[in-house]
Amino acid sequence: MANTPLKQRGIAREGGYLLEIVKGMGVTFSHLWKNIRQPENRRTVAYPEIRNPFPPRFRSVHRLTRHADGAPRCTACMCCATGCPAGCIHIVAAEYPDRPIEKYPARFDIDMLKCVECGLCVESCPCDAIRMDTGMVPMPAFTREDFIYTKERLLSHEPQVAPNGYRPRRGDL
Ligand code: SF4
Ligand code: SF4
Repeated sequence: MANTPLKQRGIAREGGYLLEIVKGMGVTFSHLWKNIRQPENRRTVAYPEIRNPFPPRFRSVHRLTRHADGAPRCTACMCCATGCPAGCIHIVAAEYPDRPIEKYPARFDIDMLKCVECGLCVESCPCDAIRMDTGMVPMPAFTREDFIYTKERLLSHEPQVAPNGYRPRRGDL
């Protein structure tokens, strides 16, 4: 008899747990039903087949921009290399034979193993020649050399285009 109140309390506590479990399952199944009925509202995607675009202000892998004739906009002024806190930009300047007013980078390497993705190179460039709007992240590689992003590689990168057609602008960084 002395144990009865304790026993009753135990049953009541178990009943409470059951109620909470039922409530939780109700939330789960309501989301499941919503996702089945409206798949476009799902917050998860089947990665890596489907990838959500990065937000416009996300600092992704660099790219070097070009003039309309395809020549790099970079004038090898070294502002980015000077401002880079990680010292990971290596530029070798050269002169155009037919364009005496500006130089171009014969070499432009970024060591992605050292880069801290700070974006100061983009900020310091007076020519809008380097951007971090590709929507890519540095991919894993087997050798250190594979993490040296060369001028050719940086020039081949394209900007990320959002599903609504929006392209990040320079001021978005
Ligand atoms: S993002 Fe920062 S660390 Fe990386 S290359 Fe640019 S300035 Fe250097
Ligand atoms: S990317 Fe811009 S800041 Fe860097 S060397 Fe070229 S022009 Fe100068």
